[in-house]
Amino acid sequence: MAAANSTILNPKTIEEAWQMKEKYGPSAAFMMGGTTFQLQREKGIPLPPYIIMLQALQELQTLQRQAADGEDFLSIGANVPLRYCMDHPIIKAHIPMLCSAIGVVGSPAIRNQGTIGGNIGYRKGDAAASLLALDARARFIDEDGEQVLPLEQYMEQEQKKAAMLLAVQIPLPAPVLDFFEKVGSRETFSPSILTVAASADWTRTGRLKRVRIVIGGGDYPPERMPAAEACLENQTLTNGAAAKACEIILEEYTPVSDVFAGAGYRRMAAGMILESALEAWKEEEMSRAAEK
Ligand SMILES: Cc1cc2nc3c(=O)[nH]c(=O)nc-3n(C[C@H](O)[C@H](O)[C@H](O)COP(=O)(O)OP(=O)(O)OC[C@H]3O[C@@H](n4cnc5c(N)ncnc54)[C@H](O)[C@@H]3O)c2cc1C
Repeated sequence: MAAANSTILNPKTIEEAWQMKEKYGPSAAFMMGGTTFQLQREKGIPLPPYIIMLQALQELQTLQRQAADGEDFLSIGANVPLRYCMDHPIIKAHIPMLCSAIGVVGSPAIRNQGTIGGNIGYRKGDAAASLLALDARARFIDEDGEQVLPLEQYMEQEQKKAAMLLAVQIPLPAPVLDFFEKVGSRETFSPSILTVAASADWTRTGRLKRVRIVIGGGDYPPERMPAAEACLENQTLTNGAAAKACEIILEEYTPVSDVFAGAGYRRMAAGMILESALEAWKEEEMSRAAEK
């Protein structure tokens, strides 16, 4: 992508890239696929004086299954294109929710060029919502050196201080229950009015555990809904438990109105979507029980 008045920097190593960011501070931005810069330019927002291109950094382009501290996880380099993730056999077979989420990002061209790390950096990404529901972690560098933190924490922290995302780690096996839905103003190529991502596992006695409910959409980053999650945790999925969680969502989720949708519509739609997610999970449990 051409950047008319910006100086393009091409680091050869991660260390060099981070040193450049430290040197130029807020005057410099990292770029991977560059698709969000395209959005900014269309809105007349000037590009930053320095652009640190990360394309040459091989480590940011690797996708591999890893094990550490007795845990299995999938590590996806920040600069791995969305399309590559979506077509990857491990993700297709074991993390279908991430495929669903990536499948609704922009258009095929955006998915070819845009990256998984860029979707997190975008702050309101559809893939980022599903990663939060998958309990993903971020591996990154900031002024304190290299670290790994829950993605949720990384996203909060990254708004306050500079960081360079290296990879996203998804624990394996992924939860057995998952759900993803995006409401847009049209079928494809549409900004999100509302995005709901959720996941959970069953205990051996048929109760829900590790419930994750994430809601995003509009100009706001996707966020976990801890009160609704807590209400479902360790519960059997009865109609009553589902209704209670949907009631809580109506209070816990506090969207604002914009030109695309009112806050009331968003809240009501979030409740209805969660209800259909829980209904689908209940049916899954019933067919699982019938198979035993
Ligand atoms: C027409 C159009 C439609 C779109 N539709 C959607 C949509 O439906 N859903 C959706 O989720 N997104 C959408 N997007 C937004 C965007 O394209 C995607 O989210 C994409 O994943 C961004 O990836 P990228 O590699 O292009 O990011 P970039 O544009 O390169 O970077 C994105 C942000 O992350 C920062 N960044 C880059 N690399 C790093 C790093 N290693 N560490 C820290 N920060 C970094 C950048 O400075 C920038 O702020 C759309 C974009 C366009 C142009």
